[in-house]
Amino acid sequence: MEFKKNQMVELYIDDIGNEGEGIGHIDGYALFLKDAVIGDKVRARIIKTKKNYGFARVEEVLEPSKDRVEPKCPKARACGGCTLQHLSYKKQLEYKFQKVKNCLERIGGLQGIEEKMEPIYGMDEPFYYRNKAQFPVGTDKEGNLVTGFYAGRTHHIIDCTHCVIQHPVNESILLKVLDYMKKNKISAYDEKTNHGLVRHIMTRVGFVTEEIMVCLVINGKKKDLRNLYQLVDSLKEIDGMTSICVNINKEKTNKILGNKIETVYGPAYIYDYIGDVKYQIGPLSFFQVNPKQTKVLYEKAMEYANLHGQETVWDLYCGIGTISLFLAQKAKEVYGVEIVKEAIDDAKFNAQMNGFDNAKFFVGKAEEVLPREYEKNGVYADVIVVDPPRKGCDAKLLDTMVKMAPKRIVYVSCDPATLARDLKILGENGYQVEKVSVVDQFSHSSHVESVCLLSKIY
Ligand code: SAH
Repeated sequence: MEFKKNQMVELYIDDIGNEGEGIGHIDGYALFLKDAVIGDKVRARIIKTKKNYGFARVEEVLEPSKDRVEPKCPKARACGGCTLQHLSYKKQLEYKFQKVKNCLERIGGLQGIEEKMEPIYGMDEPFYYRNKAQFPVGTDKEGNLVTGFYAGRTHHIIDCTHCVIQHPVNESILLKVLDYMKKNKISAYDEKTNHGLVRHIMTRVGFVTEEIMVCLVINGKKKDLRNLYQLVDSLKEIDGMTSICVNINKEKTNKILGNKIETVYGPAYIYDYIGDVKYQIGPLSFFQVNPKQTKVLYEKAMEYANLHGQETVWDLYCGIGTISLFLAQKAKEVYGVEIVKEAIDDAKFNAQMNGFDNAKFFVGKAEEVLPREYEKNGVYADVIVVDPPRKGCDAKLLDTMVKMAPKRIVYVSCDPATLARDLKILGENGYQVEKVSVVDQFSHSSHVESVCLLSKIY
């Protein structure tokens, strides 16, 4: 059967795709539909066709799946953020568990892996969990200031000041910033012309310390923000307001933040804790966005590392040393490696602030630093932890890890497909998967975080 753009079809959704989208079939031809749930019967409009599959848009849900729920956020469908809010949370968790299991079986060749998988760690309350937000600011067709989130795959701003996955304090921050901008005729940035001042409103909240940071990203100078004291006075009314700063970004770029930070009120950072470890967080620092679940994840990593005080641990792709410092509580020594120099500066600072003299850090590519340290200095590890970006570990790194022959490898992963690929390589080189846990760090999105324990077979 030939399909054409704009053609209307009726179909039953029988599968779920990699990004949480629904998949339905007509005469063997697969159609991918955002906002459709397994079990739905829908009427849809074809928007794009390829040889073996196509994309369609749900026009009407004819018979809803039993797993479909009313999204808590009225903007959920238009917004590019949450892609799974219309799926019950219980099903979201099942989907994520299955996604990891399927990858490990199909790509990793790990048949029967389910026996080694712990039940997924979901959130008790999967809303208002994020500690960091970056809201773009713009103007709508009528010229009104708007802030919220980009629509899926475009830079059209969906007006949304109450986001149900962000900390609730964000709403009053956004309203206060918009109010200040209106009263003082401060313009919003326009990407097309590269004119206008305020690009983004960034916020960070310490969930344990309750400290709040607001950082305005501007295409100009701090003094261009007329009567800035009005905004400061107004933001200070919010309990916990600790740091107000501006970030200068004059580039014509999709990158949200520039490099220069100027403080307006308080220091240019806040503090927060994960467990007993304290971290200083600036506007540019990478810090896990779901602090509650991060604690669950790091506690799993700690449990799998099985430390008793005598171990040497390498933490590769360490960011600001969050896992390194968490493990330094129980290890003899921890060595962290990370490519971003500023992150390593944060890691060193945080190590000192917490009084850890057993954590050392290297700037560089993990696949260069570890082989070099191994060949030159014969470094050793009882446990190696890796937490790579989505593309997974570099082959050269895996090779050195195998040569170093640690007793245990703890693999923290944000992409089950590359995790599975790397576990296969480690499996062929003497490492056996002992345990896997999936921790839901990103409720209502299709992202999946997991941690896996491998042990050396002698
Ligand atoms: N473990 C940290 C951060 C993990 S995110 C945490 O839990 O907070 C992955 C990190 O890997 C990022 O900080 C990124 O900058 C870093 N990175 C990316 N490629 C790298 C490479 N080739 N070598 C070392 N670090 C790398």
